[in-house]
Amino acid sequence: MQKMIKKVLVANRGEIAVRIMRSCREMGIQSVAVFSEADRTSMHVRYADEAYYIGPSPSAESYLKMDKIIEVAKLSGADAIHPGYGFLSENAKFSARCGEAGIIFIGPSPFAISTMGDKITARKTMIAAGVPVVPGTTEKVTSDEFALKTIKEVGLPVMIKASAGGGGKGMRLIREEKDILPALRGAKSEAMTAFGDDAVYIEKYIDSPHHIEFQILADKHGNAVHLFERECSVQRRHQKVVEETPSPIMTPKVRAEMGAYAVAAAKAVNYDGAGTIEFIVDDNLNYYFLEMNTRLQVEHPITERVVGVDIVKEQINIANGKVLSFVQENLKQSGHAIECRIYAEDTDNNFMPNPGTIKHIQEPLGLGVRHDGYVYEGYTIPIYYDPMISKLIVWGQTRGEAIARMRRALYEYKITGVKTSIKFLERIMESPDFCIGNYNTHFIENNLERLLADSECDLNCEDIALISAFIEYSDKLDKVKQTVSMATLRHGADWKARGRRSGVNRL
Ligand code: ADP
Repeated sequence: MQKMIKKVLVANRGEIAVRIMRSCREMGIQSVAVFSEADRTSMHVRYADEAYYIGPSPSAESYLKMDKIIEVAKLSGADAIHPGYGFLSENAKFSARCGEAGIIFIGPSPFAISTMGDKITARKTMIAAGVPVVPGTTEKVTSDEFALKTIKEVGLPVMIKASAGGGGKGMRLIREEKDILPALRGAKSEAMTAFGDDAVYIEKYIDSPHHIEFQILADKHGNAVHLFERECSVQRRHQKVVEETPSPIMTPKVRAEMGAYAVAAAKAVNYDGAGTIEFIVDDNLNYYFLEMNTRLQVEHPITERVVGVDIVKEQINIANGKVLSFVQENLKQSGHAIECRIYAEDTDNNFMPNPGTIKHIQEPLGLGVRHDGYVYEGYTIPIYYDPMISKLIVWGQTRGEAIARMRRALYEYKITGVKTSIKFLERIMESPDFCIGNYNTHFIENNLERLLADSECDLNCEDIALISAFIEYSDKLDKVKQTVSMATLRHGADWKARGRRSGVNRL
């Protein structure tokens, strides 16, 4: 029988390292932190049972150093490594190296990581498994002629994407024929710089789409379930900003279909662990596989809250060789959860990162609020890493209650010393289109002026509750659009004045 994990090295930093260590503590598992020069005073170092210095501040010299991390795991007696997200989490070589060193990698096999990590291979694998993929190529673009011929077949607009892509890099949208060759060159060179691999492929561009993803869990015994969807369409430059579950546009029928495809996708690569199948969804709820993230996602807490499952605990149980303790029929969505990513950034200055020293922080508390963070008063956010400060997650019995609660929590959240995205997020929560669930991946760009303007609050919580009630009791957004006169929800309409008169512009 396999030896149970007693000590986990967390090969990461920031909020996700702390979040993983919390589950370890609840499970009676010791945690080991690794840290770079810039992270000597970081919360994950303080929280862990043991901490080891692994190198200079740049991640290439610390958090990406496989040898060093494995050496520390051995030295500390850790029997497993949790990679978190980013850094080495989707590195097949690292997963393999852990195995060779006799250390359990808390994540999928090198085969699953490399198959899904290469987007062209992933597309081919999904087609073979019968999962719908975005129309486009299943081969890398080898010549200009091939690109022109394919785009003619697929039809403009298209996207050129890097096979090794991630973080929105190596991606180009082409709407006009004249842009094809320059975009191809640009995507290839960006892919080469970012990933050391210039393989690109072509995909049909889905206009005004939704990004909807399914969380899956699979054990080493062939059992796999999905934990329903997350709506991640509030994006800036293809990066998620706000996530919610359930999706406001989802129907039970489509949810069941997409969930089944997500499980089939995982099974196609003998997946084990936690993973996410991302889909792009059009206005008519046609859905297409986009990619699989073979790791824990930033936005996993909203699923945890609505489904009632600790995903990190499940990852560790799976790594221990345990059989999943539930089947699909046991899993239900209860209520509604929303996550806002709080960044140290200057939203009025092109979202420039704004790392620095936290002078004062007052974190939101109260019913239905979860705060996954890592900064504290006097802490200096390093310049070397992603400037995300924390994730604010709220739960409500209804979508309306969740939005009202997020607004209340953002109102309570005070940080001085660095500029943050809190105000920007408050405006998203006050936007009529967000409140009625009428948004797609273009929401931020289409509303940027209003989201940045120092405007007064548009909706009060009674308006939100009312609008949300409409949504909840209607099968489809279309029906709602017919029932609620959109004109009354627009800027300058009567409800705005009513909100002001009621004196509750701010919660
Ligand atoms: P990455 O791995 O670089 O994050 P993804 O393939 O996950 O790239 O896509 C990121 C985002 O880009 C999606 O959430 C969506 O907003 C947009 N996108 C990607 N592919 C398409 C497409 N074919 N049509 C429309 N939008 C797309």
